[in-house]
Amino acid sequence: MLSFWEQQSLQKIDFVVVGAGLVGMQTALALRLRAPEARIVILERHAPPRGAGTQNAGFACFGSPGELLDDIARVGRDAALALVERRWRGLQALRARHGDAVLQIEDHCGHEVLTRDSAVDAAALEDLNSDLRHIFGDEVFRLRPDLLQRYGFGRERVAALVHTHFEAALDSGRLSLSLQRQLRAADVELLCGIEVDRLESRDRGVDVCAVDACGEEIVLHARAAALCGNAALPDLLRTLGSAATEPLPDIRPGRGQVLVTDTLPDLKFSGTFHADRGFVYFRRLGDRVLLGGGRNRDFDTESTQQRGLNESIQSFLDEYLRTVILPGAQVSISGRWSGIMAFTADKQPCVKQIAPGYVIGFACNGMGVALSAAAAEQCADCVIRAAES
Ligand SMILES: Cc1cc2nc3c(=O)[nH]c(=O)nc-3n(C[C@H](O)[C@H](O)[C@H](O)COP(=O)(O)OP(=O)(O)OC[C@H]3O[C@@H](n4cnc5c(N)ncnc54)[C@H](O)[C@@H]3O)c2cc1C
Repeated sequence: MLSFWEQQSLQKIDFVVVGAGLVGMQTALALRLRAPEARIVILERHAPPRGAGTQNAGFACFGSPGELLDDIARVGRDAALALVERRWRGLQALRARHGDAVLQIEDHCGHEVLTRDSAVDAAALEDLNSDLRHIFGDEVFRLRPDLLQRYGFGRERVAALVHTHFEAALDSGRLSLSLQRQLRAADVELLCGIEVDRLESRDRGVDVCAVDACGEEIVLHARAAALCGNAALPDLLRTLGSAATEPLPDIRPGRGQVLVTDTLPDLKFSGTFHADRGFVYFRRLGDRVLLGGGRNRDFDTESTQQRGLNESIQSFLDEYLRTVILPGAQVSISGRWSGIMAFTADKQPCVKQIAPGYVIGFACNGMGVALSAAAAEQCADCVIRAAES
């Protein structure tokens, strides 16, 4: 049972944001710029905040050649190029907002590892480069036989390397901490350990119903709410029932798995690497290697909202590490983890008003480092409109 004061404090809120991930935190910051006097509260189920934003690989990427060719085949050339531009501008906005030193940006360049049967060849790269020139103002991808020799990858599996100086890597933990610092400076209240389990529309505003860390129910009343809970969102949206004015979005969850090695002497490469149309990725992390992906080897099992490790994918990653990245090396693994992403058919984040007072902002399609800033700006605009309508 809540006291009078507790009830009062839960009523006098302008905007509630559900989820302190990359989209949620940036949405709250974008709301602050649009409403300097507003009371803005973020509800996050994990304490400290944990989601894909702190479980990812830290690639500041916009798509490798293989992934971009795949995107073009799926969504068409114009839509795919517009998406690249959005990712590239998002990365620049992120770096400008936090600073490279804070994010521990490593400008060691990006690569794609090509196998003999890869669809990426010199002609495809030339076409891509001419399509991308108006966005980057320069040649983006180049074949680099010299690096193939230098990096020491398994020659039986690796036929060629594509290089780009436009990709970088960052420290995902520092990005989350920097966003939390900016929330404090912007006087946004971040309440952790609170899981939202029901949404209700009111004549004026919304009721966001949640359970706190002690299992007690609390109801926050606000003018409008931004729902930024990533792949967990569809279950929550169903509680809107007939209040939903738009069809619930068709979102597919996808689990990503990652491993990190112990420290290794004499690593010969640096930077970030993609393979198999972006489904496999690895990077140098200090004196370690971070390797992840492989969900395309078992799409059905990996279309899940449950975190956990899939033995066959972990075996694939182990084998890839020992035969492609570090052939012949003695390697031990220091940690493995997983995180959940949300995917749409057109690869664009899903941002729209879904019910009176409620806006959704999620589904960064596995590239939230690049796409979350723009999605958050769009989400904040929708929330302001929802509060005024
Ligand atoms: C293994 C892996 C590797 C990745 N690698 C990269 C990469 O290298 N580069 C890149 O750009 N992207 C990468 N991504 C994708 C990127 O991390 C995501 O696109 C991004 O984090 C999505 O941001 P978000 O805010 O939508 O979701 P999240 O960051 O997941 O945040 C959602 C938040 O909402 C909270 N939440 C959910 N439901 C509720 C509820 N009911 N009540 C309260 N809180 C709730 C969650 O706890 C979470 O904190 C990777 C993802 C994974 C899983």
